[in-house]
Amino acid sequence: MDEEIKKLVEIQNVDIKIMDITQQIVFLPEEFQNFKSVFEKKEKEKKEKEKIHTGIKVERRQQETELKAIEDQIASLQKKQNEVKTNKEYTAFLDEIENFKKKASAIEDSILNLMESDEKITEQGKIFSEEIESEKKNIEIKEKEMIKKIAELNKILKEYNKTREDIVKNVNSKIFSVYEEIRKNKKDGIAIAKVLTENNGNVCTGCNVYMARYMIEKIRKRNELIQCENCGRILYIE
Ligand SMILES: [Zn+2]
Repeated sequence: MDEEIKKLVEIQNVDIKIMDITQQIVFLPEEFQNFKSVFEKKEKEKKEKEKIHTGIKVERRQQETELKAIEDQIASLQKKQNEVKTNKEYTAFLDEIENFKKKASAIEDSILNLMESDEKITEQGKIFSEEIESEKKNIEIKEKEMIKKIAELNKILKEYNKTREDIVKNVNSKIFSVYEEIRKNKKDGIAIAKVLTENNGNVCTGCNVYMARYMIEKIRKRNELIQCENCGRILYIE
C-alpha cells in the first residue's frame, strides 16, 4: 500500500500543476478580452464623436447658405430703398432691412459658435485618435504575448500529462480508479490528503476535520485504502 500511496501523491502533485496550467490557459484569453473590450468601447466612442463632428459641419454649411440668402435679400432691399418715393415707404424698408440684419447677426453668432465647437472637437479628436492608435499597438503586442504564453503552457501541459501517464501505468488500476472518482467529484481536485497526527491533532488536511484514533491506526497499518469519513478523500500519514 505504501508504494501505491506514494504514487497517488505523485499523481496528485502533477494534477495540481495540470489544474493550475489549465486554469491559466482559460484565464489568459478572458483577461485579454476584457482589455480589448475597453479599447473597443473607446473606438465606438470615437465613431460617435465623429458623427457629432459631421453634424456640426453640416449645420454650419446650412447656416452659411442661410446667411448668404439673407445678405442677398438685404442687398436687394437696399437697392430698392433708393427708388422709394415717400417717407413712409422708406421707413418700412428700413424696418425690414433692420429685421434681416438682426437675423443675419444671430446666424453669424451661431456660425461662430459652431466654428469654435468644430475646432475644439477637431483638437480632441486628434488626441483621441493618437490614444487609440497607441492602444491598438498595445493590444497587438498583448495578443501576441498571450498566444505565445498559451503555446508555452500547452507545451508544459503536454509534458505533465505525459508524466502523469507514466506514473498511472504503474499504479494498481483499482486504487487509481478510486483516486479518479474522488478527484472528479472534488471542486479543488484534491483526492488524497495527508493526516496530521497526534501532536498536530489528528486532522484530515483535506477537510480539516478531527479524526478518531481507530482511523489513525487503520491508516498506520497500511494494508488497505482508507478514506476520510467526512470528505471521502484517501488518507495517508507521512
Ligand atoms: Zn477529510
